[in-house]
Amino acid sequence: MNDTIERARHFIRPYRIDDGRKFRLKDFDPNDTGGISSDIKADAKELLQGGIALLAEEQDRLYAQDRWSILLVFQAMDAAGKDGVIRHVMSGINPQGCQVHSFKAPSAEEMDHDFLWRCACRLPERGRIGIFNRSYYEEVLVVRVHPEILARQRLPPDLVGDDIWDKRLKDIRRFERYLHRNGTIVRKFFLHVSKDEQRRRFMERLDRPEKNWKFSAADVRERAHWDAYMDAYEQAIRATATEEAPWFVVPADNKWFTRLVVAAAIIDAMDSLKLAYPTVTDEQRRELAAAREQLLGEG
Ligand code: ATP
Ligand code: MG
Repeated sequence: MNDTIERARHFIRPYRIDDGRKFRLKDFDPNDTGGISSDIKADAKELLQGGIALLAEEQDRLYAQDRWSILLVFQAMDAAGKDGVIRHVMSGINPQGCQVHSFKAPSAEEMDHDFLWRCACRLPERGRIGIFNRSYYEEVLVVRVHPEILARQRLPPDLVGDDIWDKRLKDIRRFERYLHRNGTIVRKFFLHVSKDEQRRRFMERLDRPEKNWKFSAADVRERAHWDAYMDAYEQAIRATATEEAPWFVVPADNKWFTRLVVAAAIIDAMDSLKLAYPTVTDEQRRELAAAREQLLGEG
């Protein structure tokens, strides 16, 4: 087990950003596979399986201990593989201890609130893992790339200056610190897919009938804003990667590698909590013994 955790830690080091100040997206290659060549992919699968089993054990302790919660934020361009990662990595986990939420374009009710509100309502309870498929980061990504969305938010005009993104990023950074101080471990994943690989995956959605439903013409139009999105991601990671709420810039051109890095990062996060089952007090032990006596008496 320690071996798996050590390997996990080793794996994720190059992708973990816990001080964003010097972060540059161009230093990261979406096609990186951490030196693992595809002929030992079988090894990687085994490691992923081991990781998933370990995750399930840790989750059981998290739930039993009921002190911490874990928030996993997934952000990416379309077709980077968010859904697949969430499905694979969480496959071994008890659904009762896990809450997944996908954030779409906000509803009228959501627009009537501050931008963190809808996410705050869906934070994981103590003892649970919460997964955000998109999140409040959309407010400094899609909204930044499309100013007309900001205009629809009906903020008081005096509060909408050139510095609005900087202010939102500061608010997010403080919000995450607040969560940390209240026992929520925050880990953020940017699945970093290349523009070429996205094109290939969109083509596949067109070519394969069973994938047609996933195709959206709007997603293809969004490609025209690729550079603006990359800029927005870079700014967001720079401003909000901290020791207590690190970002992982996960290479996403190879799905098997993406899954491995994400699983490893979650294992590392859980291991850092040193989770343990609640200890049984002498009094509880006496109660257990009495219950045993009673049940034996019935037999
Ligand atoms: P899929 O992989 O199934 O396409 P998805 O996460 O892309 O999943 P969609 O319903 O296609 O889901 O898209 C959700 C859309 O909502 C995205 O384009 C996203 O940018 C947008 N969105 C999310 N949050 C906000 C927000 N706060 N303001 C405006 N748009 C948002
Ligand atoms: Mg989509």
